[in-house]
Amino acid sequence: MATLRPSVACPARPTVKTEALHAVNMESIVLFGPPGAGKGTQAQRIMQSTGLPQVSTGDMLRASVAAGTETGMKAKKFMDAGQLVPDDVIIALIRDRIQDADASNGVMFDGFPRTIPQAEALAGITNVSHVIAIEVPDEKIVERICGRYTCGNCGAVYHDTFNPTKTEGTCNSCGSSDFKRRADDNADTVMSRLSAYHEQTSPLADWYDSKGIFHRIDGDRAIDEISTDILIALE
Ligand code: ADP
Ligand code: ADP
Ligand code: ZN
Repeated sequence: MATLRPSVACPARPTVKTEALHAVNMESIVLFGPPGAGKGTQAQRIMQSTGLPQVSTGDMLRASVAAGTETGMKAKKFMDAGQLVPDDVIIALIRDRIQDADASNGVMFDGFPRTIPQAEALAGITNVSHVIAIEVPDEKIVERICGRYTCGNCGAVYHDTFNPTKTEGTCNSCGSSDFKRRADDNADTVMSRLSAYHEQTSPLADWYDSKGIFHRIDGDRAIDEISTDILIALE
């Protein structure tokens, strides 16, 4: 097993802002699914093909917690308990992020929106062209999450059994030997996160389905097969 060290803060993103919200011309993609479905894994793989930057509210919140910002302080207790962070906090984060220069042609949302009010707010910020739902049965989720680790340098996502580094202790992408595990990736918190998903997030499937932009992808397969199907759905 790779050497695990305490988590490190993410490097700062560019802070260039455009004058106004890119409200009209953007076409964004939403990666949707339960915790551990493989949203982050797929986002990293399809980023080059789509040309859209990955926007993960989970990663943004963890960076805020690590930096000790007001947002981080508001979010931490919910994250530790496996509950959703309040909508107003999330929507403010997204409104800010969407103004960055790299978001001008749209983004690939990972883990957002997670409630109907978040989806309604998003509809006023950007056009969503595709919602890609990665479907994985509940009974597979715990083993996925409890085996997850990421590269502390580049963020590449691995799994102890299903997707280990090629060379033990060395990141495939950047060669770093600094790996971390999330504090909330434990069996107890996973059950709360799954309940939050079923109660608050899964109703969004019908909401997006009624708009004709919802694509279901079987996420209980090899990572490459899933990437191929996502790219076909995006064509
Ligand atoms: P999410 O972003 O949806 O929470 P991740 O992409 O972080 O999910 O994946 C959760 C864990 O499952 C990671 O350890 C990852 O390596 C692993 N994983 C991702 N896709 C698959 C797959 N198709 N089969 C098996 N394990 C996977
Ligand atoms: P996963 O996909 O494995 O559930 P994330 O990294 O997306 O993990 O989210 C981690 C935690 O951050 C969630 O359990 C929740 O507390 C919070 N969070 C992330 N995104 C949102 C969101 N869109 N709305 C509310 N809470 C969120
Ligand atoms: Zn790396």
